[in-house]
Amino acid sequence: MKPNNWVSSSQATELLAKQLVTWPLAKKNYKALEAVQVKSFDMGGFSIRVQFNPARIISSGAKVDAQSLKERKCFLCPENLPVEQERLPFGFHHLVLCNPYPIFPQHFTIPTRTHTPQLILPQLDDFLELIRRLAPLTVFYNGPRSGASAPDHAHFQAVTRGVMPLDGDIQKLVTTFPSKQNPFCQSPKKLTAEGGHIYSLTGYLRNGFVIQAPRQETAIRFFKEIYAALPIPSGESEPMMNIFGSYYDSNWVITVIPRKRHRPWQYEAEGEDHLLSSPGAADIGGLFITPLEKDFKRITPELLRDVYQQVCLSDREVEEIFVHLPSN
Ligand SMILES: [Zn+2]
Repeated sequence: MKPNNWVSSSQATELLAKQLVTWPLAKKNYKALEAVQVKSFDMGGFSIRVQFNPARIISSGAKVDAQSLKERKCFLCPENLPVEQERLPFGFHHLVLCNPYPIFPQHFTIPTRTHTPQLILPQLDDFLELIRRLAPLTVFYNGPRSGASAPDHAHFQAVTRGVMPLDGDIQKLVTTFPSKQNPFCQSPKKLTAEGGHIYSLTGYLRNGFVIQAPRQETAIRFFKEIYAALPIPSGESEPMMNIFGSYYDSNWVITVIPRKRHRPWQYEAEGEDHLLSSPGAADIGGLFITPLEKDFKRITPELLRDVYQQVCLSDREVEEIFVHLPSN
């Protein structure tokens, strides 16, 4: 049996418009977002936008260790959602909700209806369905140790496309390959199978892989190949990663950014080295969030480069994995 309750991006947009009227917290925070400070840095071929967003201290400072999770009430479980928060069922497993602490003009949280750990494989079909049905929104996934503030409750997020620089950069990469219009990616490689492609993404500080596929089965096959090629850190249940999905020109375009670390060392540092940053998909997508004004003021391209190099793979590491993918 196939579900028939898919939510479209226009239904999601309507939900948000309604919530801005019925839910004072959402109204206040979306209004505040219009006034947040943003600055943009040219990183040499691509840009990173830094957003000063004090409301996000809840997420960036979230304790995600097992003990803290056990002691808190899960904020994604349906029975714990605020009464004002409306829910749109999506397929058999998920709910589309407005995120009351937005970093995007449209920002939805999409949890599963039952309390089940954050893992990508059990929700991969739903992820692809969300990407297609919610286009032109970008749908992303934070691994349980790669920025998810609820690693114990499976969820995605869907956001306005184009706010993260990655959206446009990847579109340029896949539509102009192999031209030199992508200064960040000097020698991208591409493999082709079943009418779809995997591109290597290097020279980008958040290096990884881009899947472009007209068929769901091909996208799934490619994703599983990449997943299987990534190491699983001891004690973890899946490789660390952030995943971004868009659907355009009749293709799924899925960017997989493997991670080697959750937070930079500066997160634990004391004094002037301290940086309150827990990079998740938005930060990896090039919308770097600083909840503290002192961090927003002192951030530089060098510091950004340092953080990304600590938490993501190098060009070489990605190239090494790419050449050994089974479809190659
Ligand atoms: Zn839960």
